[in-house]
Amino acid sequence: MPVLDTAALLHWPAEKLQGGIVAHSQLEELRKLSPERAMLLESIEMEWLSIGTGDAEAAAVATGDLTRLSPVDLEVLALALSTGQKLFTDDYSLQNVCRHLGHPFESVSNKRSRELWSWELKCIGCRATRKVETKQEAECDVCGSPMKVKRSRN
Ligand SMILES: [Zn+2]
Repeated sequence: MPVLDTAALLHWPAEKLQGGIVAHSQLEELRKLSPERAMLLESIEMEWLSIGTGDAEAAAVATGDLTRLSPVDLEVLALALSTGQKLFTDDYSLQNVCRHLGHPFESVSNKRSRELWSWELKCIGCRATRKVETKQEAECDVCGSPMKVKRSRN
């Protein structure tokens, strides 16, 4: 049974969603995006779970994708990691973390990111770089200028 991100919940037909693994927080999100869809999902057989996101956050820190992932995204990722099931997602950051971990994933539509990348903080003053560890704005340790998140090569 695959783990389904919110794009799948919004766009897939009910038959395809049946039996999928989803996070309780996605239902909340879906109620805001599409109340009709949320009602439909509650009427079919799905596995609704809740899970801590510690491991998922650590994995997202490793690739620098943490700032691009919402709490709901992180919970969906945590479900995929803990169950070992394939994650269906169109979110490039979720795909990137999965690729980094060697975890199976597939896109909901047909756009799948091609390469592995990571993000890093780069100082706008002295160009010093460091890992993205939190969602907070960062200041350069070297010169005190603001740091911006930039894509980096692996
Ligand atoms: Zn600096």
